[in-house]
Amino acid sequence: MNTSTPLLSVHDLEVRYGPALALSAVSLDVPEKEVLAVLGANGAGKSTLARALSGLVPPNGGRITFAGRDITGASPGAIRRSGLIHLPEGRGIFPGLTVHENLRMALTAAGAERDGAIDRAFSIFPVLGERRRQRAGTLSGGEQQMLNLARALMITPRLLIADELSLGLAPKLVDLVFDGLERARAAGVAIIMIEQFAHRALDFADRCLVLQRGRAAWSGPASAAGNEVLRHYLGEAAS
Ligand code: ATP
Repeated sequence: MNTSTPLLSVHDLEVRYGPALALSAVSLDVPEKEVLAVLGANGAGKSTLARALSGLVPPNGGRITFAGRDITGASPGAIRRSGLIHLPEGRGIFPGLTVHENLRMALTAAGAERDGAIDRAFSIFPVLGERRRQRAGTLSGGEQQMLNLARALMITPRLLIADELSLGLAPKLVDLVFDGLERARAAGVAIIMIEQFAHRALDFADRCLVLQRGRAAWSGPASAAGNEVLRHYLGEAAS
C-alpha cells in the first residue's frame, strides 16, 4: 500500500437520527499508527462519529475509506474483521462469563489465533491473570475496562476507537487505561480517542479534531490545541 494514503479517510460524513442532524460535513484522516483525539462538549456528536465509523449507525452521506477499501455502509462485522475495532462507551464485556471466557470469546469472534494470545493479554494486564476465573461482572469498573481493552488488543486491530474508556474511573485506573493504549500504540495500532480528560488526550494524541454541534469546528496538531481552543469550544468541559 502507498504509505502516503491514510489508514482511515472520512469525507463529508453526515448522520441523521430521524430528522435530527447529528453529524454534518465531517472530514478527517487518520494515518497509520497515529492517534487522533476527538473532543467536544456533550452532544457534539463524538459517539455518533465512532458509531458511524464502526457501522453501528448508517451514514446518510459521505464516504469512509479504511485500509484502501470503501467501508461506507458496511456491516459492523465486516468492518471489525477488516481491523477497525470500536470499544464503546460503557463496558462491552459479558458479565456472566469469566475473565478467561471473555478473552476466549473475543478471539473466537475474530477468528484469531488462540495460541499465546491470552497469555500475552495476562502479561500486559497481570490483574486479569489473577482474576482469570472470576466472573467479569464482579470486577471493578477499572478492571472491566482493562478487560474491554485486553479483548481488543489481543486481536491486534489496525485502528482502535476508544470511546470514553476512562469515564467514571479513579485516577489510578485512568493511568492503567492510558498505559494499555500506549501499548497498543507501541504495537503500531492507530487510535481514535474520545476522552473527557481533554488535556490528557492531547498529551497522548498526534492530532486533534474538535466537534461542535455535529460539525468539525477545529482540527490540527494536538500540540497546537492549547487552552484557548479548549476554552472556546469546550467551555467548562476542558479539564
Ligand atoms: P456525550 O459526550 O454526551 O456522549 P457525544 O458528543 O458523544 O455526547 P452523541 O452521543 O454522538 O454526542 O450525540 C449527538 C447528537 O445526537 C445529540 O444531539 C444526541 O442527542 C443525538 N443522539 C445521539 N444518539 C441518538 C439516538 N439514538 N437517537 C436520536 N438522537 C440521538
